[in-house]
Amino acid sequence: MPELPEVETTRRGIAPMLHNRVPRQVVVRQVKLRWPVPVTALQGWCGAPIEQVWRRGKWLGLSSDHGHVLIHLGMSGCLRIVPADCPVQAHDHVDVVLDHGKVLRYTDPRRFGAWLFTATDPLHHPRLRHLGPEPLSAAFTSEWLARQCSRSRRAIKALIMDSRVVVGVGNIYATEALFRAGIHPARGANTLSKRAVSRLVAEIQAVLAAAIEQGGTTLQDFTRPDGHPGYFAQALQVYGRAGQPCPRCGTLLHQQQIAQRSSVFCPVCQPL
Ligand SMILES: [Zn+2]
Repeated sequence: MPELPEVETTRRGIAPMLHNRVPRQVVVRQVKLRWPVPVTALQGWCGAPIEQVWRRGKWLGLSSDHGHVLIHLGMSGCLRIVPADCPVQAHDHVDVVLDHGKVLRYTDPRRFGAWLFTATDPLHHPRLRHLGPEPLSAAFTSEWLARQCSRSRRAIKALIMDSRVVVGVGNIYATEALFRAGIHPARGANTLSKRAVSRLVAEIQAVLAAAIEQGGTTLQDFTRPDGHPGYFAQALQVYGRAGQPCPRCGTLLHQQQIAQRSSVFCPVCQPL
């Protein structure tokens, strides 16, 4: 599943090809994504140059004088810039035809992604307005996370994966950051010391920054817009490695369901 680093990598990949280009037409071949694709609104959005290609959490936005297109990659979505004559494949659901002969193509085999439109402030859109701070922004501090922790008995892993607390920390990066911070994923959030919380904030930021730097983690469905896979998967220390030795102490890594998600951890380095 694309997580924040993959979405940011996508944004960086497509933005230079979209900036100041005029969308001429939006071709929707499948309206049934996570929510129905607003075909008429997307047509009305055409004709004005794209001024900004931005990201908030795992949402991508394309903004112009005609409004804002909001795109979510869901479980298996992917955006690429392709030539206008690039043959259409089975899961290519949306094309934005641009004035320079290229097409922004959205592919999504599982169709959990979304294309939405708003004419007003996109940060106030119902899907975006409840989002917590960006993990790599100055707003995500240990004071902020400590305050959220002190109010919650939930497992710390569930808390940091809650987008109202901080956006874009999915299963992979939560698992890795908790390992690096030496915190058991099932620990009650309100039992963590201030020091543990600030270590966790630092590790969440480090692991996300490293993944963005390296172009996002490729697991199953994601390839970079220019066709090269990201390679952060090789740097994952515990995610997907249950039953293998801990890279730090050699104890076999455990796996446990925590808040409905599979969690891998070292029972020695991450004591409960
Ligand atoms: Zn260990």
